Amino acid sequence: MKLLNIKKLEIKDKKVFIRCDFNVPMDEFGNISDDRRIRSAVATINYCLDQDCAVILASGEVDEKYSLAPVARRLQQLLKRHVALAPAVVDDATLKLAADLPRHEVLLLENIRYEMGETKNDAKFSEKLASMADFYVNDAFGVSHRSHASVEGITKFFDDKHKAAGFLLEREIQFFGKLIDEPVRPFAAIVGGSKVSGKLEALVNLLPKVDKVFIGGGMAFTFLKQLGYDIGASLVEDELLEEAQNIMDEAKKLGVKFYLPIDVVAADKFAEDAVSKIVTAQEIPKGWMGLDIGPATVRLYREGLNDVQTVLWNGPMGVYEMEKFARGSSKIAHFVADSYATTVVGGGDTADLVQRINVDEEMTFISTGGGASLELLEGKILPGVAQLITKPE
Ligand code: AMP
Repeated sequence: MKLLNIKKLEIKDKKVFIRCDFNVPMDEFGNISDDRRIRSAVATINYCLDQDCAVILASGEVDEKYSLAPVARRLQQLLKRHVALAPAVVDDATLKLAADLPRHEVLLLENIRYEMGETKNDAKFSEKLASMADFYVNDAFGVSHRSHASVEGITKFFDDKHKAAGFLLEREIQFFGKLIDEPVRPFAAIVGGSKVSGKLEALVNLLPKVDKVFIGGGMAFTFLKQLGYDIGASLVEDELLEEAQNIMDEAKKLGVKFYLPIDVVAADKFAEDAVSKIVTAQEIPKGWMGLDIGPATVRLYREGLNDVQTVLWNGPMGVYEMEKFARGSSKIAHFVADSYATTVVGGGDTADLVQRINVDEEMTFISTGGGASLELLEGKILPGVAQLITKPE
């Protein structure tokens, strides 16, 4: 798949609107704990500034209450130049700031999720955003699987000579393209985290592509419950039990080795100071919840991962933000990092996790998009990318 290339745009001295993904994790003190997504956008922004452009940046923070002020500060440090934070997204004052923005200046719009039109992919809102600039560049791989106004809708207001993929988006799409076309086998997916609903659908579509699947994190309990285990108060999505069964059946049919945790770190509450103990998956005490995979599971998963040549990892094995429940994720991360396989980490949380324990440099590729990379691997064309594909002449 070839994307419209930013280098082919005649952007010199012009105004460029760049959709970025600055949705970064924050620690308990409100500090940005992993600024990879901000750093990853710098190449495209600097390219435009070097072309003497005025640069308008837009991004969302999932929590619509958040201001992008901390992002503006970090961006300012990374770019080593002033970044103005707009008072809003598309109010009159912001539109005027955008209209008057001189070349070499950077204006960051406020959290685009402040506007309801964003997630509704509202055409009027897209048009307003589009009216701010001469060119549109999408560098927000992490949200390109969403049909949102600043990602998908806006592309319709620019012709092919006035829009393109940024360097980050281009790199991600090329990397995953190669990974789907010719993965070195055995190919394993390690899938964890808590967003069960989103990930089960991805799992169904991934099954025909991989040789092994290792499940961890909160999503494991939907499978364990379906198998008849008493999972206590662990995270579960009851309406997806049947889907979990379908996935296990499909894996069997396709000959995909499907691994589930055999023991867990169970706790009496969801808190750092919880009482916790290691129990087998069969023996989670009533009212307790599994918050990490246990040591036997770690050993089992290491065994299963031993001969693997390509690993895709999406979602932590436990509540890694709490030290007590971070062991499973950390052990798997070290194992994956030490292996000679091609190792691909996708998703903000998983990237954050490997960075916290300093193994990020050992991974082959860290993607800025979890959901987006899963959808790409499923073979889908992402809505934010669809309008940026070059058409045959
Ligand atoms: P996701 O965004 O789906 O990748 O999920 C990441 C989140 O899953 C992290 O914030 C983890 O704390 C959380 N998580 C991982 N394991 C569990 C678990 N066993 N129970 C509840 N939450 C979990």
